[in-house]
Amino acid sequence: MSVPQGARDVEAIRAIGPDQWQTVPAGQTLNRGFSDDEFWLQVRVPAQPANRVLEVGYPLLDEVSVYWELDGRIIESHHTGDTRPFDSRPIVHRNFVFLVPSNTEPVTAWIRVQTQGSVQVPVAVTPSAEFLANEQISYGWQTMFLGIVVALALYNLFLFLIVRHQTYLWYVLTVVCSGAVQLNFNGLLFQWFWPDVPWINRYFTVPVVSAALIAAIVFTMKFLLVKSYSRWGYRILQALLAVNLLGLIYGFLGSYQVGIIWISSLAAFATPVAWLIGINVWRRGQILGGFYVLAWTPLLLGHLVLAVSKLGWIPRSPFTELAPQAGVAVEVILLSFALAYRINMERRRRQQAQEHALDIQRQANLTLESRVRERTEELEQANEQLRAISLTDGLTHVANRRRFDEKLETEWNRALRHEHELSLILLDIDHFKQVNDRFGHLVGDDCLVALASILSDEVQRSGDLVARYGGEEFAILLPTTDVAGAQQVAERMRLSVARTPVNSGEHMSPVSLTISLGVATLTPNRQSDCQELIRRADEALYAAKSDGRNRVVVWHPKAVAPTTG
Ligand code: GH3
Ligand code: MG
Ligand code: MG
Repeated sequence: MSVPQGARDVEAIRAIGPDQWQTVPAGQTLNRGFSDDEFWLQVRVPAQPANRVLEVGYPLLDEVSVYWELDGRIIESHHTGDTRPFDSRPIVHRNFVFLVPSNTEPVTAWIRVQTQGSVQVPVAVTPSAEFLANEQISYGWQTMFLGIVVALALYNLFLFLIVRHQTYLWYVLTVVCSGAVQLNFNGLLFQWFWPDVPWINRYFTVPVVSAALIAAIVFTMKFLLVKSYSRWGYRILQALLAVNLLGLIYGFLGSYQVGIIWISSLAAFATPVAWLIGINVWRRGQILGGFYVLAWTPLLLGHLVLAVSKLGWIPRSPFTELAPQAGVAVEVILLSFALAYRINMERRRRQQAQEHALDIQRQANLTLESRVRERTEELEQANEQLRAISLTDGLTHVANRRRFDEKLETEWNRALRHEHELSLILLDIDHFKQVNDRFGHLVGDDCLVALASILSDEVQRSGDLVARYGGEEFAILLPTTDVAGAQQVAERMRLSVARTPVNSGEHMSPVSLTISLGVATLTPNRQSDCQELIRRADEALYAAKSDGRNRVVVWHPKAVAPTTG
């Protein structure tokens, strides 16, 4: 198998002397990089008792012509390539496959190749049975690859529609475009989708590779949050994005050859760079970087295997040819897994934030509750104090008139219910005006305080009440007490006051006081009311005053009789 080059017809090529041909060693592929020159291959096929096919295993070649020579004559020729309709191929296949015309005689194939893209001409002559068997495996793999791409794309598209997270959309675009790139390089898109419209091939390859790179770059940015983890990484990706956008536009407008060189170089550069950025953000604490690097590695390895095989360092095999495609399949599967991991990660983060917020709220509620409780207690205490103040006489600290009225009302009703007696003592200081006039009002006040204290001391039962009734008059309410008991209490009070002079200041001699007391006792009934008790006690007090003061008078229906004098 040998090669000269330059535009000539098959007769001119056949006339070239053997010394001018180059030999391509068996197992290696003719690889001339990017060149739009015309290349010729001469393949000698010895006689062998089996049907065989000759396969040119690179489907993107623009023009492929095969001339079969038998016994020094061209007996058959085929003109095909991806610039011609698919039915120009003698055998329907994504690659260029030709039947070897004879088993019994040696034949020679003269193969002419011209293309704007990469000049790779892998030629193999294989027994048809073996070719068919291999084809089963290869085609099975291709459809499985298609299945993986379609399933992942649809699944993540649905996720995008529900979650509305742009990363999923870019992932879907990456999967669809990467899948399309692979299927296009294997000649399947042409075969399946536009077999009669070969001009699409010229406008498809460059834009679809650009689109795949753009989608992968944007996906990388969004998925890894490159902007916040690596400034330079973000800049590089932005630059790559811009250059790829130009490539995309150029793919439609410019020369195919320049476009394909441009985009191939970009892909060769971008893949390892993306891998390195993944490593970089991973090391800076982005957990998803680990997944990304893991996913990107098989893709990188796949392309590395292909590149090494193209250089002839390892022999070409179905494995080397399918390596990048397998890399893409593993990559998209791992990335889909990484996306799922990310959903979970974000969900957990959201959950934690929610719990934290809830905690704060709970804490706030507790604080509020305890504050409210404290305030309520304070308020209750204040109310209690206020109530006590409102019912206490400010000067003497015994009950005031209001308290007395309340107490009288309740005790009256209680006595009515239980048919008990209720006694009341009303008392008034004798000649108190004179005390005020002689010693002044402040001394007078001191006397009132001292008197209240003496009266309180004389009252022993818990239900009894001493109240300042007004001015220098006091009332003592004695529930469940008969007239004799009340009279006793009144007498004790009178004596106690009379023998206890009031000390008011260091420079004053003690002030002697006497009091007059009126006592009344009633067993309440439905017809009477409590004012009657007050009226009677007042009457008795009046009698005590008129009878000469410093005495106790008990109210009596006919006469108000003094008991002491
Ligand atoms: P009597 O023996 O008739 O009761 O003579 P009295 O001077 O006490 O007469 P009366 O009971 O009418 O006295 C009222 C006087 O009590 C008027 C006022 O000087 C005095 N007084 C009333 N309330 C107070 C008070 O809150 N403080 C002081 N210092 N004196 C008061
Ligand atoms: Mg008075
Ligand atoms: Mg008086």
